[in-house]
Amino acid sequence: MPLVTSTEMFKKAYAGGYAVGAFNVNNMEIVQGITEACKEEKAPVILQVSKGARAYANHTYLVKLVEAAVIECPEIPIVLHLDHGPDFETCKACIDGGFTSVMIDASSKPFEENIEITKKVVEYAHDHGVVVEAELGTLAGIEDDVKVAAHAASYTRPEEVEEFVSKTGCDSLAIAIGTSHGAYKFTPEQCTRNEKGILVPPPLRFDVLEEVSKRLPGFPIVLHGSSSVPQEYVKMVNEHGGKMPDAVGIPEEQLRKAATLSVCKINIDSDLRLTMTGTIRQFFDEHPDKFDPREYLKPARANIKETVRHKLRDVLGCAGKA
Ligand SMILES: [Zn+2]
Repeated sequence: MPLVTSTEMFKKAYAGGYAVGAFNVNNMEIVQGITEACKEEKAPVILQVSKGARAYANHTYLVKLVEAAVIECPEIPIVLHLDHGPDFETCKACIDGGFTSVMIDASSKPFEENIEITKKVVEYAHDHGVVVEAELGTLAGIEDDVKVAAHAASYTRPEEVEEFVSKTGCDSLAIAIGTSHGAYKFTPEQCTRNEKGILVPPPLRFDVLEEVSKRLPGFPIVLHGSSSVPQEYVKMVNEHGGKMPDAVGIPEEQLRKAATLSVCKINIDSDLRLTMTGTIRQFFDEHPDKFDPREYLKPARANIKETVRHKLRDVLGCAGKA
């Protein structure tokens, strides 16, 4: 099947109590690792591209890599989505350039301005058969070149969501309930430590999610910044010359719970980066004589596939739902 929008995907996910994984893609090995796992697990998938990915790999290369995955995986529905579109022009370039879904992120702007920009993108996107994700509230952490300190982050205000969705016509809404971008989602001061000395982050604000869902029945909600920062990969990085002290993510059982509620899309990026980097660091450490990129990208791709498989089965609940 050709690239699809997320409309049907989200309808089924909402009714079925699971979420679709939205994984960021930057190169061929990442696209392959993700889609091979989804194909084997019969899972729908959203491949998303950020502004940084477009700057790194070039729009055309990314679109063609995703189109190659569509040809290789005809059994599963695949969405090509713009992650954190910063303005109308970027969204338009992606809508005109083969994407089936875009996010306009005007969440840092005042409420009325966010509505105005989002509405403009929605009108253009819907005219071209493309769906739009918008955002209300501000996540902490680092996304591409945007850094938001914890104190500057703000939870979504549920009392704003109905007006926002009805005035903009957006198709899904990213909300801030305590997730955060990057591999250092919380400072050690914000966390407690378990018996093994591992940081335990503050719990997600399920009360905010529930209030939003009550006000927007049946409407798909999106969670950004939802990597779990698997400690086995943090350890692998640190044991092979890396330095990532106190990297911490969102516990998987909390994401699992969110997926059973109104959350239909969960964004995962840092976990794939960490998987790739840990694997390559270990390879370099163990094989200092090797210099063929295929030799270290192959195990990196294989481990990305296994990380994604675990997410589909145990976190998102979307395995077998294609
Ligand atoms: Zn994000």
